[in-house]
Amino acid sequence: MSEEKRLKIAIQKSGRLADMSLQLLEKCGIFLTKSRDQLLCRAQNFPLDILLVRDDDIPAFLATDVCQLGILGQNVLLEKQAISNGIFSSLEQLLPIGQGKCRLSIAVPHDFIYESIASLNGKVIATSYKGLLGQYLATHKIKADIVTMEGAVEVAPRTHLADVICDLVSTGSTLISNGLVEKDVILESQAVLVMNQISDPEIAAIADKITSRIKAVLRAENSRYIMLNSPTKSLEAIKAVLPGSKSPTVMPLQGCDDMVAVHAVCEEGVFWDTMEDLKDCGANSILVVPIEKMLD
Ligand code: ATP
Ligand code: ZN
Repeated sequence: MSEEKRLKIAIQKSGRLADMSLQLLEKCGIFLTKSRDQLLCRAQNFPLDILLVRDDDIPAFLATDVCQLGILGQNVLLEKQAISNGIFSSLEQLLPIGQGKCRLSIAVPHDFIYESIASLNGKVIATSYKGLLGQYLATHKIKADIVTMEGAVEVAPRTHLADVICDLVSTGSTLISNGLVEKDVILESQAVLVMNQISDPEIAAIADKITSRIKAVLRAENSRYIMLNSPTKSLEAIKAVLPGSKSPTVMPLQGCDDMVAVHAVCEEGVFWDTMEDLKDCGANSILVVPIEKMLD
């Protein structure tokens, strides 16, 4: 009997994307014999193996077909593509995951006079992203020296290693505690599902299945089910307010000739403002509930 074909997906072993990536696979109904010390975990109920590695290594594993899917920051993928001569060009971003959001920014010490990107001419910039920074400087015709650092980039100005830095920022608290001010955003980034071209049709079918489950999970997470009662005459106004909903279900309400019940899946955030707008249109008994799974 031939051995069952299995897909390999690489995710971060430990760090900012590690828990989120495992949880995403679990929400897709994939359960692992989980041992964080292992390099490879087997899914019990799906033809999938999970490689637990450093995020920086995922593009190389994808490019060499050690794995076929990976979850990593766009910043890592784009940097590898920027510094290599085409070996990562076949890697494709399939889906934004909506987590691990950050930006690659230029930040300067408080006393550095930054009027525009041109203020970087002749300066020394410390970064772990020399590829992306180099491209950005070239686009803006800036001549600056780049000092590459693996970590602790934010201390470079204080230790006179560099005048300014280019680093990942999310809340900005690391910058503040190092006396730095964010001035320019080079890249907005988030975690993405990345694929390399797959030649084996059976492996490609497994990749399609996983991708569509991940899409469904992300869609459900961003969607809400709204139920409300509406005066019949206000129905059109209420439909116009319902965020990102295509065709709501409208049902009669027993004993109320001039009222209907409206149920809708809203694929955008439903905020207090939205609920108050619905109420102003005449809606009452408004219920908003999360959706666990969704498949078209
Ligand atoms: P590894 O040991 O896997 O190499 P790492 O130290 O390179 O880990 P983390 O700090 O865990 O990586 O960050 C992983 C990813 O999280 C980043 O590449 C980036 O896409 C995202 N991220 C989100 N916010 C931030 C932030 N404030 N600083 C750094 N990365 C962030
Ligand atoms: Zn890393």
